[in-house]
Amino acid sequence: MSLAYLGLGSNLGDRRGNLRQAVELLAQVPGVVVRRRSSLYENPPVGYEAQPDFLNAVVEIETSLSPRALLEALQAIENRLGRERTIRWGPRTMDLDLLLFEGVRLDEEGLTLPHPRLCERAFVLVPLAELAPDWPLPDGRTAGQAAEEVKADADLRLQSQGSEW
Ligand code: ATP
Ligand code: CA
Ligand code: CA
Repeated sequence: MSLAYLGLGSNLGDRRGNLRQAVELLAQVPGVVVRRRSSLYENPPVGYEAQPDFLNAVVEIETSLSPRALLEALQAIENRLGRERTIRWGPRTMDLDLLLFEGVRLDEEGLTLPHPRLCERAFVLVPLAELAPDWPLPDGRTAGQAAEEVKADADLRLQSQGSEW
């Protein structure tokens, strides 16, 4: 079994309900055990700004799946939750990113690990640091250090403290 961290985001419909459902569906995937979830954060969209605010969280899982099979399971859950692929970085009911997969670094068509934009995003680093502050990032910092550095400049609003959401 390998540890992995997933980034969840939603900015359409019942955002919190979408995140909850995503965690429930994840727990039903054969070969995936959901271990812990971060607090829930609200933050403005990054990249394409004319869209509603996101709710974001990070979830820790253990999995016997390969990174590729896990990504496919995540995409199936996005589709179940009504994800439509329109504009890049546009609004969506569910975005499930594979952030980190224990012991794995790769850069393939359709899958890069660690997630290529992980190190600069407060809405990923801050919840990740709640769960895995000592995890080493590709740039040499730990998740905790990186979270501290991006936090000050980020408009990140704690929506629900702890894992009960
Ligand atoms: P970003 O990747 O900047 O967070 P996004 O989540 O909006 O943007 P998507 O449209 O959800 O981007 O995904 C685009 C593609 O990224 C997917 O088709 C997937 O194959 C690829 N991808 C590469 N590495 C990863 C990863 N670690 N986790 C999830 N998707 C990945
Ligand atoms: Ca994303
Ligand atoms: Ca994605």
